[in-house]
Amino acid sequence: MLIGNGWDLHKHTSSKPLIIGGLEFDEEEGFEAYSDGDILLHALSDALLGAVGKKDLGYYFPSKKTNKKRDFEYRDIKKNFRDN
Ligand SMILES: [Zn+2]
Repeated sequence: MLIGNGWDLHKHTSSKPLIIGGLEFDEEEGFEAYSDGDILLHALSDALLGAVGKKDLGYYFPSKKTNKKRDFEYRDIKKNFRDN
């Protein structure tokens, strides 16, 4: 049996929409992020990556300046799962 464990944390901000589980909510504050800031899908992705023995989401989509992809959305995470 494979088991994964994921979590995610972002600061609140009024400059981004609130997106949880791929749904955009009409709230005043979203989550600060260079991505879509979807904490639910980011945590789920980390859990799935862990369950299959891969590195965490930050490895594939780092927040520091690198030549890896930034400004990602959940559909980019799904594509990454399929491609790797
Ligand atoms: Zn996140």
